[in-house]
Amino acid sequence: MSKQQPITDLFQNDRSLLSVEFFPPKSAESVDVLVEAAKRISTCSPDFVSVTYGAGGSTRDLSASVSKRMKDEVGLQVMPHFTCAGSTQEELGAIIDSFYEEGYRNIMALRGDAPQGQSAFVAKEGGFEYASDLVAFIKDRHPDICIGIAGYPEKHPEAPSMESDLDALKIKVDAGAAFITTQLFFENEAFFEYVDAVRSRGIDLPIIPGIMPVLALKQIKRITQLCQSELPQALESQLSEVESDPESVRRIGVEWAMRQIEELIDKGAPGVHIYALNKAKSAIELINAARGN
Ligand SMILES: Cc1cc2nc3c(=O)[nH]c(=O)nc-3n(C[C@H](O)[C@H](O)[C@H](O)COP(=O)(O)OP(=O)(O)OC[C@H]3O[C@@H](n4cnc5c(N)ncnc54)[C@H](O)[C@@H]3O)c2cc1C
Repeated sequence: MSKQQPITDLFQNDRSLLSVEFFPPKSAESVDVLVEAAKRISTCSPDFVSVTYGAGGSTRDLSASVSKRMKDEVGLQVMPHFTCAGSTQEELGAIIDSFYEEGYRNIMALRGDAPQGQSAFVAKEGGFEYASDLVAFIKDRHPDICIGIAGYPEKHPEAPSMESDLDALKIKVDAGAAFITTQLFFENEAFFEYVDAVRSRGIDLPIIPGIMPVLALKQIKRITQLCQSELPQALESQLSEVESDPESVRRIGVEWAMRQIEELIDKGAPGVHIYALNKAKSAIELINAARGN
């Protein structure tokens, strides 16, 4: 068992922190393809990668095996995500303990979304209602685990106002979070305003902007609708013009993301979390551009 480095240590590095997010594929067979993508990405040394946890805990076993292979076979720093969805406290405790024993020292703690077909999140009986409950639970069990939490520059879709969403963020922070990773956004102004609003609440944790390179127009429309992030008209028009040519769409998406990353780092963001949609090529281009390679 090799113990992983807490991400809080990585914030001490001189260079910007670059991380890549993967989601477990639908089938165990496709995990090999994903591990190959991770191997390619590992050649440009991301500081860490994160592995999502399916809605309702639906990919629990695949998430665990993807995380393990990325840690042991590819040699990456891995931050598994956990959600409150579909698990009791006892079940969550057992999973978290087993991850701890395997050497993980970073966890992204989330509430989770409602499973497909259900309109609202409902906590499992004996489970947790909010991510803040999960943060406190993990911290109580393993104080040395470094916990990331989600932040929403354009407000969480269910929050009645930005103010109430910031109140909720403060509860998560006070429960023991170490850093905030944001939902994807396409206009940096939203991030800068969010950072100011978070700071005005007395929260001084690192806030890592989450950036998704557009890879396909239909896909990004679906994603932005789900998370209620705005797809700027200027970007949508450029993408629409070349919609029938996937490589041109990808190129426009990656170049937009590169410009975002350059400005974010120039203006003081501690790094960038790349929602790479399991694709190595775009992630590598973005990491290299961010590092000036
Ligand atoms: C970086 C990142 C990674 C993600 N990874 C995953 C993943 O792996 N798997 C997955 O299923 N989903 C993932 N998500 C999506 C996430 O689960 C959803 O956005 C979910 O709807 C909210 O999760 P949360 O942790 O922000 O919840 P919370 O912080 O609990 O907030 C949920 C809602 O409740 C409100 N709220 C919170 N606490 C309180 C309180 N005490 N009182 C009143 N209201 C409160 C908030 O304002 C918000 O509207 C991710 C999102 C991000 C940004």
